Amino acid sequence: MAFNLVRSALSRTTPLLTRQKHHALIGAINANHFAHETTGGEGGLCFELTDDQKSILELAEKFTREEVMPKAAELDRTGDFPMDIFKKAFELGLVTEIIPTEYGGMGLPLLDHCMISEKIAYGCTGVGTALSANALGQAPVLLFGNEEQKKEYLGRCAAEPLLCAYAVTEPGTGSDVAGVRTKATKNADGDYVIDGQKMWITGAGVANWFFVLARTNPDPKAKASEAFTGFIVEADTPGVIVGRKEWNMGQRCSDTRGITFEGAVVPKKNVLVGEGKGFRIAMGAFDLTRPPVASGAVGLAQRALDEATQYSLQRTTFGRPIATHQAIQFMLADMVIGINTSRMAYMRAAYDFDHGRRNTYWASIAKCWAGDVANKCAADAVQIFGGAGFNTEYPVEKLMRDAKIFQIYEGTAQIQRMIIAREHFQQAMGQ
Ligand SMILES: Cc1cc2nc3c(=O)[nH]c(=O)nc-3n(C[C@H](O)[C@H](O)[C@H](O)COP(=O)(O)OP(=O)(O)OC[C@H]3O[C@@H](n4cnc5c(N)ncnc54)[C@H](O)[C@@H]3O)c2cc1C
Repeated sequence: MAFNLVRSALSRTTPLLTRQKHHALIGAINANHFAHETTGGEGGLCFELTDDQKSILELAEKFTREEVMPKAAELDRTGDFPMDIFKKAFELGLVTEIIPTEYGGMGLPLLDHCMISEKIAYGCTGVGTALSANALGQAPVLLFGNEEQKKEYLGRCAAEPLLCAYAVTEPGTGSDVAGVRTKATKNADGDYVIDGQKMWITGAGVANWFFVLARTNPDPKAKASEAFTGFIVEADTPGVIVGRKEWNMGQRCSDTRGITFEGAVVPKKNVLVGEGKGFRIAMGAFDLTRPPVASGAVGLAQRALDEATQYSLQRTTFGRPIATHQAIQFMLADMVIGINTSRMAYMRAAYDFDHGRRNTYWASIAKCWAGDVANKCAADAVQIFGGAGFNTEYPVEKLMRDAKIFQIYEGTAQIQRMIIAREHFQQAMGQ
């Protein structure tokens, strides 16, 4: 009855998920064809997905519904790393999308990776981050590695369900990457010895190898663009000590740890590009990784909207479903606006990347806006649930805890605004 009342008040309601078809899909995907079709286009705007994109998104949705959503609350309670989910996702090709086919991956465009990430994040952003932090570790190798490094380290991640991690932040410095104090010094063999400490490294406890940024020029006056070097470090290198799991506010099944380096010897062949090139590599990786972080935030925001919409249709106050109160409708409308615009922003950022254009501006817009929108949507979903929103038996308090990190990792909301302002002024001054 309440439902009918609302139907007459609202012309349309939002389904929780689009209808699912079962697809024995993965064998049917021709990754090369896929990459061409989805990145093609000779101009104009096109908002249509290809049939291949629709198929892989159906697969990701089905995977999320069957493998992620039923386990999300338990993983949030235990904080256990979702290794079984990671392995199943690996089998389906849902964690090797960005690895080119020549190294054994799916070779999909970044846009497809983002859309898949959104689907998985809808189920649980803890699982989403646990899975997608792998791409953050791979990005420096993918973008800057030589052929041998790509074959070895991307090939390894495509051949087996192995993880890697990106280790830049330290206890004393996060936003100010030029403040990194971990140092690497050359030994008599020309290899490097790393000493220092990293902090808040996603996936550190389960990684097979790390991307590590270390200072190679001890001169404090050396330019950041010349003072740091990027290394690929095997996790089992003697002197690499992974710390305890940190117990975070949200996304608890994503493994976050510190790492200590005590005289860890790294062969010179594991230097990316060359000595002194690390800062550009560490920062350049974000052009690839910020769009999928944004899409994860959109997934969370969409979940908040769907949960809040369903609840508003069922909950009655003053003899009417709360969905008929304009104050509730406006909160939902603001969520709809935020979600759709942040989704378009990550798509634009990924599209530019896929077309070989510098996408720093759009990647920061997408990451910043989607992170803010996710937080607003989660907080408003809690508000719409009232007292139940504050309770752990209902789904939305987890969304609010999980959302916060989207304004912090991979560059805080303030740092994104600094980048956008810098890019804006460069454009304004015609540089
Ligand atoms: C769960 C989690 C996972 C993470 N995963 C990884 C990972 O895998 N790899 C990795 O390397 N790092 C990782 N990080 C680290 C993360 O990227 C940093 O925490 C983040 O960049 C912020 O750095 P910070 O914590 O040192 O804060 P700070 O840099 O100390 O910033 C503190 C506050 O000051 C603001 N601020 C700083 N500088 C300015 C400025 N110039 N103008 C205005 N405001 C400013 C910031 O926005 C923030 O609000 C992770 C962090 C967390 C919590």
